[in-house]
Amino acid sequence: VTAHYAAIVIGAGPAGQKAAVCCAKAGRRVLLVDRTVRVGGASVRHGIVPSKTLREVAVTFDKLRRLTGRDVGSPLPEQTPLASLMIRRDAVIDAHEGFMHAKLARNGVELRRAIARFANPREVELHDVHGGQERVSADSYFIATGSSPREPKSVQVDHQHILDSDSILSLTYLPRSLIVLGSGVIASEYASIFSALGVPVTMAHPNLTPLSFLDPDLANFFLGEFSERGGVYLGGVHIEHAAWNGLYGVDVSLSNGSVISADKVLCALGRSANVSGMGLEHAGVHVNERGNVQVDRYFRTSAPHIYAVGDVVGPPSLASTSMEQGRRAAQHALGAPIENNLSTVPSSIFTIPEISSVGLTEAQALEAFGAVRTGTARFSQVARGQISDNITGHLKLVADPGGRVVGAQIAGEGASELVQVAQMAILGRLAVETFVDESMSFPTLAEAFRIAAVDMLQSADDLSPRAQAAE
Ligand SMILES: Cc1cc2nc3c(=O)[nH]c(=O)nc-3n(C[C@H](O)[C@H](O)[C@H](O)COP(=O)(O)OP(=O)(O)OC[C@H]3O[C@@H](n4cnc5c(N)ncnc54)[C@H](O)[C@@H]3O)c2cc1C
Repeated sequence: VTAHYAAIVIGAGPAGQKAAVCCAKAGRRVLLVDRTVRVGGASVRHGIVPSKTLREVAVTFDKLRRLTGRDVGSPLPEQTPLASLMIRRDAVIDAHEGFMHAKLARNGVELRRAIARFANPREVELHDVHGGQERVSADSYFIATGSSPREPKSVQVDHQHILDSDSILSLTYLPRSLIVLGSGVIASEYASIFSALGVPVTMAHPNLTPLSFLDPDLANFFLGEFSERGGVYLGGVHIEHAAWNGLYGVDVSLSNGSVISADKVLCALGRSANVSGMGLEHAGVHVNERGNVQVDRYFRTSAPHIYAVGDVVGPPSLASTSMEQGRRAAQHALGAPIENNLSTVPSSIFTIPEISSVGLTEAQALEAFGAVRTGTARFSQVARGQISDNITGHLKLVADPGGRVVGAQIAGEGASELVQVAQMAILGRLAVETFVDESMSFPTLAEAFRIAAVDMLQSADDLSPRAQAAE
C-alpha cells in the first residue's frame, strides 16, 4: 500500500464529487478517482449538458416559429451538421468543468485518473493509462461509478446507424428520420428534441404509453404534444430485431409483425449500473437482482465502511439526487447528523414542453389523508402564458384536507422553474391561501399558483368568505 486516505471516492460524477468535497471540508484526506480525463461524469459528457444544449436550440426554433408565425429554421436543410446546432456545448462543458476543478482544488481533494478495483475490503488497486498499478487504502469508500446505457440482445448498437444516449449526439448530421426504442425519460426527451427540430420521430416500446410512471395527466400531456408535432408512439410492441439494411437506414421488426424503418435508431431501453470489473466480490459488496449496488437508508453497502451513491444504486438516477446522496453518505461517514428525508425532491423531465412534479399526487394524497383538495390553473388563463404562446400547459396543486400544500404536478414550458416554488411551499408547510393573499410579479407564469389556489378554495364545498372573495 503506497498511501492511506480517510476517504477514497470512485467516480467523479455529481455523486462522487459531492461526497469528496464534503469529506475534504471536514479536514479529511480524500482521493477522488475517475477513469476519464474529465470530471463531471455522465452529466457533463453524454448527459445533461449536451442534451440540454441541443434542447435549448430546439425550444428556441419552436418558440420563434410560434411567436412570429414564420417558418424560422424549418425545415432544416438535409445534412445539417448536428454540431452546428450545439455550438455552445464545449463552452458550457469547459465552464462547468473549470468550476468543478476549482472547487476540488480549493478543498484539497486529490484527483487521480485511473480505473479503481477492490483487492479486498480495505484496499483498492488503481490502474492508470500507462499500465501502472498502485495499491491504496482508506477508512471509508464511496462507490459513485454511475451507469451506462443498457444494450438489449435484440438490438446491435453500432454507434453509426443504431446509437445509444452516449453516442447519439456524435452523429455528423441531423438524422432524416429517427426511431426511438424506449418510453422512459431519456427516450422521451430525445424524441421531443429531434421532433421539434423537424425530424420525423417514431417511438416504440412494450409500455402502452410513454412516461407511464407519471401521473396520467402528465403522461397524456407529453403524448398530446408529441403527436401534435407529428411524432408517433407505438405502444404494446416488443422489439424483436433492429439492424441496418445496408442501403438507406435501419429496419426494426416489432412483435406485432410490422417492420418500421428510419435513417437512424436511438436505443434508450434503460441503464445498467457500472459495477463490472470493480472487484466488488472481493470487498463483500452485494449487488441486487436489478444489478444495482444494494444500500441501506444511509447509503451503506453490505460492507458498512463502503458507501454507494448516485446512479449505481438505481432510481431516481438524477444528478440532483445523486449529489444529495453523496452529501448524506459523507455526513454519515463523518458521524454528522443527517437531516430530513429526500421526499420533496422535485423531478423534472426536459421534454418539449417540460414536465415537473414534486411531493404527492392527488391519488397518493387521498391514500395518505383519506381526503384531498386540488386546484388547477391552465397556462391559457395566465397573461404570461398568452404572451409567450405557452398556453397548453397546466399546474395542479394538491393539498391535505387542512389546506396545506403537499404536492404539485406541472406541465408546460417553465415547469422546471415553477416546481421549485411548489417545493418550498411543501417544505414550509404553506397554507394554500398564501398564494391568494400574497402578490406575485406580473406577468409571470407563477401567477398559475394563485389561480390554482383560487380554484381549490372555490371548489363547491368551500364556502368560507375568503374562498368566495378570492377571485
Ligand atoms: C441523456 C441524459 C440526460 C440526462 N438529463 C438529466 C437531467 O436533465 N437532469 C438530471 O438531474 N439528470 C439527468 N441525467 C442523469 C444524470 O446524468 C445522472 O443521474 C448523473 O450523472 C449520475 O451521477 P453519478 O455521479 O451517479 O454517475 P456518473 O455521472 O455516471 O459518473 C460516474 C463516474 O464514474 C467513473 N467510473 C466508472 N467506473 C469507474 C471505475 N471503475 N474507476 C474509476 N472511475 C470509474 C466514470 O468515468 C464517471 O465519470 C441524464 C442522463 C442522460 C444519459
